[in-house]
Amino acid sequence: MAAQVNVDECVGCSACVDACPAGAIEMNDDNVAQVNEDDCVNCGACVDACPNEAIEL
Ligand code: SF4
Ligand code: SF4
Repeated sequence: MAAQVNVDECVGCSACVDACPAGAIEMNDDNVAQVNEDDCVNCGACVDACPNEAIEL
């Protein structure tokens, strides 16, 4: 498993992108966070960083 973004809850703040130590998250064309599941190491940093509880492991 990798971190999962609830696209309806993401407000596009990019905090998770900055928090991810693996560089596994980028913002897509709709300004929604997108996790590259192959790069995610399941550390949970993005979950902690998200102000809107839009990511879960
Ligand atoms: S769980 Fe960790 S490695 Fe995976 S996307 Fe979130 S911050 Fe990055
Ligand atoms: S931290 Fe949360 S709200 Fe901000 S871009 Fe990431 S998933 Fe979206």
